[in-house]
Amino acid sequence: MSDLTRLTAAELAEKIHTGEVTAAEVTQAHLDRIAAVDGDVHAFLHVDAEGALETARAVDADLAAGRAPVSPLAGVPLALKDVLTTRGVPTTCGSKTLEGWLPPYDATVTRRLREAGVPVLGKTNMDEFAMGSSTENSAYGPTHNPWDLDRIPGGSGGGSSASLAAYEAPLAIGTDTGGSIRQPAAVTATVGVKPTYGGVSRYGLVAFSSSLDQAGPCGRTVLDAALLHEVIAGHDPMDATSIDAPVPALADAAREGARGDLNGVKVGVVRELSGDGYQGGVLRSFDAAVAQLKELGAEVVEVSCPHFGYALSAYYLIAPSECSSNLARFDAMRYGLRVADDGSHSAEEVMSLTREEGFGAEVKRRVMLGTYALSSGYYDAYYGSAQKVRTLITRDFAAAFEQVDVLVSPTTPVTPFKLGEKVDDPLAMYLNDICSIPANLAGNAAMSVPSGLSDEDGLPVGLQIMAPALADDRLYRVGAAYEAARGPVLDKLGELEAAK
Ligand code: GLN
Repeated sequence: MSDLTRLTAAELAEKIHTGEVTAAEVTQAHLDRIAAVDGDVHAFLHVDAEGALETARAVDADLAAGRAPVSPLAGVPLALKDVLTTRGVPTTCGSKTLEGWLPPYDATVTRRLREAGVPVLGKTNMDEFAMGSSTENSAYGPTHNPWDLDRIPGGSGGGSSASLAAYEAPLAIGTDTGGSIRQPAAVTATVGVKPTYGGVSRYGLVAFSSSLDQAGPCGRTVLDAALLHEVIAGHDPMDATSIDAPVPALADAAREGARGDLNGVKVGVVRELSGDGYQGGVLRSFDAAVAQLKELGAEVVEVSCPHFGYALSAYYLIAPSECSSNLARFDAMRYGLRVADDGSHSAEEVMSLTREEGFGAEVKRRVMLGTYALSSGYYDAYYGSAQKVRTLITRDFAAAFEQVDVLVSPTTPVTPFKLGEKVDDPLAMYLNDICSIPANLAGNAAMSVPSGLSDEDGLPVGLQIMAPALADDRLYRVGAAYEAARGPVLDKLGELEAAK
């Protein structure tokens, strides 16, 4: 493996900006790595070598002309989840419905990356329309966890996290509706952040559940995630829910955290996010993380969030309801797949046959669940009740954050399971997000940072840190302090042995 793929984004940026290496060399090293291992990992649905090298060469030309780098990450390549539109570059959302679609516009996240001189290596695999926790719902086959190729890399953004753990990319973008950044981060020993809802523009993020969807940064270190978060965050008039407020200084918070201690920081352990259904190895890793936070000087108290136990049920009404409405746009008329277009079928038949063929089983299940929950006579009982629960969960967070600065829990109740183990059991699959969903429902910020390997199976475990809305900087301060004290986890992976 080329050394360049082993470096963090911050280290690569420094080497590029001081002229030690070129952005084109760094990008090529990652393209070579993808060519060597992605046959086994399958993190990418599409590799855009030419596009990435073109961006890298533009950065190199700028630097050679003596201009300052256009951003702190200029020249550092990245893997982009295939749910964000890229002009002229395939965007499938892991669905047959969008196979071959070339978006006519860039998502705001994509545009910001381009403006920041970040070469986009390609588009990463995901559960179809971001529905799932294992990438097994991708119409293009699953991604494999670099820690054990027979295991899931998490989902829906398993391609993004696996690309980091396999050293195919130093940075990645994910999206998190109920945990799709944090759960993949946890099971691959990488870092993933769900920003405050409204902190990163949703323009060009193909909608699953609009009131929950949020794009965010993924990296191998907390500082790298912070640097990327700063590139993509900020107000966007193209997104009506984008927050018009300054982005807190995230990279500074990460640097301060890594240098300092946690004296004066109050940490709340969420009582409801542990117990039955959590593996012993996960709980022991979590306890060790809490002990480490105390050693760093944090004051740790137990906090109760009594309605978190209802979060999963509320989510599986709200998210499918919004999805049933959002996915109505895939109607075989405007763009995407169209079957039975032979003149012998009515428009309604074409729509119905196309949706039958284009959507996988999980997407159909959600559309039907959501349509049912929204139907007249059931709306109040299902969707309406779920919205009330959502309010109660938001109030739980508000009460907790009156007592503490951040909340912590395991990111997931279990370590990465075997591919195929839960595909036929939707409820078992949904339970992976039991810890991550509350933050989506309330709209606040949350991070997963590696907390080590389970003493049961030697597989990665994640620590979840949650902060109030607009206080994303607290995640980075606490996350970086913890990361520095704990030491690296991913290094234990060693070199991935690609099957020859
Ligand atoms: N696993 C959850 C689901 O299937 C979360 C997905 C996500 O965050 N996009 O809905």
